[in-house]
Amino acid sequence: MSELRELYQELIVDHNKNPRNYGVLADANRRAEGYNPLCGDKVTIYLHLDDDQVRDVSFEGAGCAISIASASLMTQAVKGRTVAEAEALFQDFHALVTGEKPDSELTERIGKLAVLAGVREFPSRVKCATLAWHTMHNAAHGEAAPAKTE
Ligand code: ZN
Repeated sequence: MSELRELYQELIVDHNKNPRNYGVLADANRRAEGYNPLCGDKVTIYLHLDDDQVRDVSFEGAGCAISIASASLMTQAVKGRTVAEAEALFQDFHALVTGEKPDSELTERIGKLAVLAGVREFPSRVKCATLAWHTMHNAAHGEAAPAKTE
């Protein structure tokens, strides 16, 4: 178990240091901002939706390692999916980080996102991990108000 934890830790550090899909998305047609006042994490999610498909996605942000790594992993996970699939993945991810479902029901779909399972032991960190997902949800649904984790 500790080897797995170390691997997870390395992946989080890697995604925090070298976030994927980082920066303004030039042809974005949706955009939303999110803020986690508990930790001070800020994120902006850009989406290029084509009908109901996430053609492209990027983010910008400033915050703790968990929030940045989670945003980076989220962009990789939802790119190319339909909005409905991305929402379903958000449900799974939420269940993963809160521990509300047994892992055996999740691991198939959750893939690499499993690296963030450890935050369930730190309830205040759950908000850091879900901020990008809440913000993606708001961007996909064109909600103008900033996403808040509170
Ligand atoms: Zn945070």
